[in-house]
Amino acid sequence: MAGLALASKLSPHLSVLIVERGDVDLAPPGDEVSDEAISSGLAYPFGAIRDFRLGGSTSIWAGYCAEFDDFDFRPRDWVPMSGWPLERADLQPFRADAGTFLNLRSTNFQPDVVTKEALVTIPTQVDGLQVTAWRFGKPILRILEDWSFDDPDFTGLDIIANARALDIILTPDHSQVDHIRCRTRHAHEFTVKADAYIIATGGLESARLLLASQSQIAHGVANSSNLVGLCFCEHPHLVAQGFEFALEHPIEIWAEKIRDRDGFPFSLCAGLPERRQSELGVLNHRAHIFRTPQMELKDRPKLGLFLEQSPNPESRVSLDGELDDWGIPKLNLHWTMNDLDRHTFAVSANEIGAQLEAFGAGHITHEVRATDFRDEDVLHSNHQLGTTRMSADPELGPIDSNCRSHDHDNLYIAGGGVFPTVSWANPSFTMLVLTLRLAEHIKKRFCVEQRVT
Ligand SMILES: Cc1cc2nc3c(=O)[nH]c(=O)nc-3n(C[C@H](O)[C@H](O)[C@H](O)COP(=O)(O)OP(=O)(O)OC[C@H]3O[C@@H](n4cnc5c(N)ncnc54)[C@H](O)[C@@H]3O)c2cc1C
Repeated sequence: MAGLALASKLSPHLSVLIVERGDVDLAPPGDEVSDEAISSGLAYPFGAIRDFRLGGSTSIWAGYCAEFDDFDFRPRDWVPMSGWPLERADLQPFRADAGTFLNLRSTNFQPDVVTKEALVTIPTQVDGLQVTAWRFGKPILRILEDWSFDDPDFTGLDIIANARALDIILTPDHSQVDHIRCRTRHAHEFTVKADAYIIATGGLESARLLLASQSQIAHGVANSSNLVGLCFCEHPHLVAQGFEFALEHPIEIWAEKIRDRDGFPFSLCAGLPERRQSELGVLNHRAHIFRTPQMELKDRPKLGLFLEQSPNPESRVSLDGELDDWGIPKLNLHWTMNDLDRHTFAVSANEIGAQLEAFGAGHITHEVRATDFRDEDVLHSNHQLGTTRMSADPELGPIDSNCRSHDHDNLYIAGGGVFPTVSWANPSFTMLVLTLRLAEHIKKRFCVEQRVT
């Protein structure tokens, strides 16, 4: 999604080459998606959480679009390593365009606005909680199905599919990338030489490629901070035990994907507002109401929590000693939770339960404790974030606020790996907004340079 969004913005102005390791057809990729990775932490099903083909994970994603809160971008003194090197206002100019890419009706996620065109009555206010919405595109974006790479938007774009970037080679003084060594599936080696290089290979593979590019620097490219691969974040998803819904309360409709009068789907969720999060020292989160596919409509729904994960250097991507079929070290993911994650789970479950009880939506059956958090109960959300974090300080992240490497002047990274903290919200909307901002930066920098020279 990131690479192709960049290509669509840049190829009318600059000459763009995409190197994509997967195929250009709709058939699912082979076993290499799962065979090349090992999990030494919480279980992580590599075969289901990403996709290797043109369009990446958009071929299989669920299309939930949500927005970060203002305070997600600010430092929070109870969240170590928090604070982005930019503000939400810096992203504002690119939001509408991201909404168009994703086929959203609007990029306003306020519940009163989202539900305005609904055909049914939906509770949008619960005292003590901040209610927000997920929007979905109509249709949900599937790049390979929806985009034609022959159309005029893509003048200047070349795609080499079934080819993999293997090694990033620097100039002798290491100030820039000189070229990238690549290989096709049929073992044909070639190099790519360009004015600028953008790594957009997903949150796991971008870190892996940088770490595995060791021919000149032992700890990898763009890694003077030694933070490439560290602070891997997901959005842990847990059932909030301890709350039982009343039967047939109007809030049950939050368990549905509701369509407005023009067929655009949305759903509602809620969490503690910023001030309460700060008082309780918890990470950002949202609670949603759901039924599993096995449950019937007459069954009481359940309360689930989507949690922000705290940036934690122990939770990390590294290289394994074993090589894959291409001769590249396999990836080892050590996904792990810490005390702040456990505290957030327990406190937000109890507090949200109390507010829902006061709203008449059900009752608390027992208090949830941090010790109730069992690693085996944590579900993943298919989001791979934080492994190439942005920071104004080169010691606290490999890239700057323009997604440019602090170490190598013409190297950029795009995708959810660049998030220094990850909010509760599904990442793709924010990832796309940042990517469109990066496209503007590249356009300004390189189109001007081309004019000057
Ligand atoms: C089942 C599922 C459901 C999801 N649902 C949602 C959702 O509802 N909402 C949401 O916001 N997000 C969702 N996501 C996450 C979302 O799809 C990703 O955040 C997004 O697609 C990431 O885009 P990307 O461009 O960074 O990376 P990717 O989509 O992973 O694309 C990376 C591309 O790089 C290629 N590549 C990798 N390594 C190399 C290499 N060395 N050389 C050349 N090419 C390489 C890959 O083949 C791939 O095409 C979901 C993901 C999955 C798997």
